[in-house]
Amino acid sequence: MKVYNDCRELTHVICNRCEKQLNVQNGLLKDAVFEGEQSFGYFSKRDGIKHSFDLCEDCYEEWIRMFRIPVTETENTELL
Ligand SMILES: [Zn+2]
Repeated sequence: MKVYNDCRELTHVICNRCEKQLNVQNGLLKDAVFEGEQSFGYFSKRDGIKHSFDLCEDCYEEWIRMFRIPVTETENTELL
């Protein structure tokens, strides 16, 4: 979950799963985060609803370990 101040500057990022507060300095996130976002459409049970959440790196790793089919992993040549 991202929290912004009145000037729309990022102040906090909290993992939705474990509530770990990630490192934000001067409006910039200094930790890895998984940003999940899904808008559900007509054929969904959640038609018209949008979900968004953030996961810390540990929770992301734990989550993807539950997948029966592993995530597709490729090398990113441009580092962020
Ligand atoms: Zn977490």
